[in-house]
Amino acid sequence: MRGPDFTLTAGPTMASDRVRAALGGPVLFDYDPVFLERFRSLEAKIADLLHTEQDVVLMQGEAVLGLEAVARALTAPGTKWLNLVSGVYAMWFGDWLRSFGAEVVTHEVGFDEAIDPADVDRILAEHGDIERVALVHSETPSGIENPLREIGPIAHRHGALMVADVVSAFGGCEVRVDDWKVDLCVAGPQKCLAGPPGMSIVVVGPRAWKAMEANPSAPRGSFMSLLDWKARWVDTDKSAFLYTPSVSDVNGVDAAVDEVIETGGIEASIARHELAGRATRAGVKAMGLELWARDERYAANCVTAVRCPEGVGTAQVLAHVRERYGVMLSKGYGPLAEKLFRLGHMGPAARSFYPLVAVTALGRGLADLGVKVDVGAGAEAVAQVISEGAAEAATA
Ligand SMILES: *Cc1c(COP(=O)(O)O)cnc(C)c1O
Repeated sequence: MRGPDFTLTAGPTMASDRVRAALGGPVLFDYDPVFLERFRSLEAKIADLLHTEQDVVLMQGEAVLGLEAVARALTAPGTKWLNLVSGVYAMWFGDWLRSFGAEVVTHEVGFDEAIDPADVDRILAEHGDIERVALVHSETPSGIENPLREIGPIAHRHGALMVADVVSAFGGCEVRVDDWKVDLCVAGPQKCLAGPPGMSIVVVGPRAWKAMEANPSAPRGSFMSLLDWKARWVDTDKSAFLYTPSVSDVNGVDAAVDEVIETGGIEASIARHELAGRATRAGVKAMGLELWARDERYAANCVTAVRCPEGVGTAQVLAHVRERYGVMLSKGYGPLAEKLFRLGHMGPAARSFYPLVAVTALGRGLADLGVKVDVGAGAEAVAQVISEGAAEAATA
């Protein structure tokens, strides 16, 4: 089978020419001064993009490595967590916490809506002894964004650590780690940043380090140990790795970060994703389809989730669109697999008319299979929003 002409999925995203070239660059000795300097400066550039002065640890493994490392490092038997669940990734994070012996208070809302900060405030007050709060900022499997900006300070007021999964938020929506009182977060390069999958970006603040150091159950002497990174890398002159970093991945992520910096910076990147999300939602609605998000205020900038209409299956539609038109889209994930489609607009797919391709491919594919949709109205709506956004950006 031929590769796709367009990858407009929920991640990993298409990498740019520059990122692909970097991935194919020389594989340097990890203690070569050029590589050491690249690794250190990559940490600093990422800290800038996330608006933080806290420590950045680049773990060599896809973001799930960082998330599991964090769950283990901050959990001893009986550690009391509040897990805020509005989607699949938060649900899975809770499974980890329980399996490591945590006492987990779960606050779950429908997967088509966001967490209300007032509920977080109330639950923390009711319990009084919750030590950590976990939130997924942008729930990629359902295209829902949670108000981390408001929830972080609430967790702090109640004396709890704020722990966030910002994997698909990074680069696509605002993430201000320090201003929002986030003690620990995990980001990924393979979503809105458009880097290769293979790295966990973990930001750790002083309160989180202290909690880990006080935790006898936190991994030590392990590939998954954040404390090892602190002892051997963060607290030293940063000249001794724990293990050989994935050199090509570091090169690729470095190129992705430079590309963001050199094409208008993080604000421009966020604006592109915001516009692509708005255009996609307008197109979906104009075609006569229903957004998954119960309220558009909850919709994420990274992917647009669309309810699957009656009479067709998600796998059937995606296979048809991929086979006939060479466009790869995503379905839902886990318990949402059969309920929704996801049109990804991350990284390069947030640029230009890519959203038009995604909306038209889904609409035309559904029409081919007998669903009544107005493809023309959808296309017109996408183009209209993109045109207005491009005009605004040109005069800004
Ligand atoms: C992509 C992503 C991860 C990493 O999970 P994979 O399925 O292994 O890519 C974690 N959290 C969120 C919110 C993500 O979007």
